[in-house]
Amino acid sequence: MFQAAKYYNARAGSVRLIDQNNYTYTKEKEIGAKTYWTCSKYRDKAIQCKARAVTNNEENVIITLTGTHTNHGSELMTIKTKLIVNEAVSRSAENPNVGPRRYLGEIQNKVDETNANIAYALPSLQATKQAIVRARKKNNPTPKTPNTLDEVLELFPKDLKFTSDQGLFLRFGGWISEEEQTLGLIFFSENGLMMMNNSKTWFADGTFKTAPSLFAQVYVIFCLCQDKRILPAAYACLTNKNTVSYEKLLLTIKSAMTEPILLESFRN
Ligand SMILES: [Zn+2]
Repeated sequence: MFQAAKYYNARAGSVRLIDQNNYTYTKEKEIGAKTYWTCSKYRDKAIQCKARAVTNNEENVIITLTGTHTNHGSELMTIKTKLIVNEAVSRSAENPNVGPRRYLGEIQNKVDETNANIAYALPSLQATKQAIVRARKKNNPTPKTPNTLDEVLELFPKDLKFTSDQGLFLRFGGWISEEEQTLGLIFFSENGLMMMNNSKTWFADGTFKTAPSLFAQVYVIFCLCQDKRILPAAYACLTNKNTVSYEKLLLTIKSAMTEPILLESFRN
């Protein structure tokens, strides 16, 4: 009993034979009523599969299948693998706060679940990671770089005002003193606020070299926590080093805190 020969159009004018295991073949030659086919992965230099098929055109059946398909699976399975990867990549773009590792794991699990040998069709981990990065960038383009201080306020992305769990992060963003061209962005999370409430020892330092363009410094307040770790709790991007900037930072923190703090050297 021969299996029926089925065909499909791969590209315009190019008919392929497809066997019952969904392997596909490209036509090599026709001799009389017989057509000789080579595996469609025969010309793929990396695979060079030697499997072949012969069909009888009058009966429309596959009369001979020779060789085994080495180093590759059927195209249907390749398509299935692509669908698994594409689905995970587009889901990863919608959930930018979840690490790519989780989606790479999901892809592997789904591939394993199919119980078919389709791992050959998987893109490399590196390629999948890059696909995730690209999809995320497309979904959420890099914010435009501001060229003026006014643009800093205009272009500041909404989602960066909040932490990933939707807590407040940007506590102040605006002019501290317009005459002095002093602008500030002051950030701390609920967690940072809790650290500042619970810590009696703070350290503060400004870093100038790594400040984003238009800003003179990134000023960071660290807390000595109960477990003896020193962790950053609040951040400020400031356009200069004048007193009003530090005042604004400390007053912004003070007004959010539940524990009283005494700002001795600053006017209140
Ligand atoms: Zn093959």
